[in-house]
Amino acid sequence: MQRRNVWACVLGAGLGWASALTPAESLTPAESAAAQRLVAAYPAFLRGVEGGALVWRDGTRMPLTRSAATTYPGRLDAPGLLDQLDAAYPACAPLTAPAYLSDPGRVRFEPLLRKMYGASDSAVRANLVTVDWFGQPLRVTRVNGAADALRAVAKDLAAHPEWRAFLTPSAGTFLWRTVAGTPRRSVHSFGAAIDLNTARAAYWQWSGFREGQRGIPWRNQFPAGLVHTFERRGWIWGGRWYHLDTMHFEYRPELTGACAAGR
Ligand SMILES: [Zn+2]
Repeated sequence: MQRRNVWACVLGAGLGWASALTPAESLTPAESAAAQRLVAAYPAFLRGVEGGALVWRDGTRMPLTRSAATTYPGRLDAPGLLDQLDAAYPACAPLTAPAYLSDPGRVRFEPLLRKMYGASDSAVRANLVTVDWFGQPLRVTRVNGAADALRAVAKDLAAHPEWRAFLTPSAGTFLWRTVAGTPRRSVHSFGAAIDLNTARAAYWQWSGFREGQRGIPWRNQFPAGLVHTFERRGWIWGGRWYHLDTMHFEYRPELTGACAAGR
């Protein structure tokens, strides 16, 4: 696993993003709908979809591409924008064990996140504001309304003192770092993720499993109502991943549209 990641990293660095990706000839209806959901979720940055490209308000055209990688770990390490859009995230659905390699939302096209939230530690920091998380000050990006959305989550959750032990202490929000053992930048780098109480959490690597290995057990203590409260505000949950990370939520409003407010 370590060796494969090293090679993926070397290869990615040598080829760069563009040549590692293959452009979509034309979008399927599902791809087109997913691209439109992305535009709708980030209106401050995105203007529309045109000629196989995502069009930004500043005029940037980001081609809707697919990864050239043939394996799931390969796609994770070097995805195209369309690979990110493939995610069928079951917002507000019952909490159940995901199918093998079903990790909706875990594939992320990093250039998109870097352009919105900041491409360096200092650039991201410039957009961080403090969110009061049950007395604990957390630094969260204000970009795309993420901090406001987390404040709204906290307000909703305040009505449920029985869930407080899952929520606090938070294990952290912003940290400019890669995912351990991979070339991928964690969403915590962009100030758009929160880890809840590790003492109540399960994480796939804690049991010694390797990426893509079969048999990772799904263990969860987090109440469905707590998870749905986040999802209603645009935050997805790592407990819906085969590679489970039940303390982890990240702001991905393009994936939570099916979760009707007030449900
Ligand atoms: Zn996390």
